[in-house]
Amino acid sequence: MICGFCGYEFDESEGKRGCGGCPGGCHAVHCPRCNYKNPPEAAVIKKLKRIFHKGEKR
Ligand SMILES: [Zn+2]
Ligand SMILES: [Zn+2]
Repeated sequence: MICGFCGYEFDESEGKRGCGGCPGGCHAVHCPRCNYKNPPEAAVIKKLKRIFHKGEKR
């Protein structure tokens, strides 16, 4: 993936996940260069959200 802030290209596994510093839990991939919080693959997130919303009872 490419960092949306500095444009540095890195593998998602290279980025820092679950940094523990983001409010509400970290689900992003932080750039190893500038630590920008990049959203992980959007399609995957959409799928996950769908699953979560189905499972949730409001
Ligand atoms: Zn960056
Ligand atoms: Zn984070």
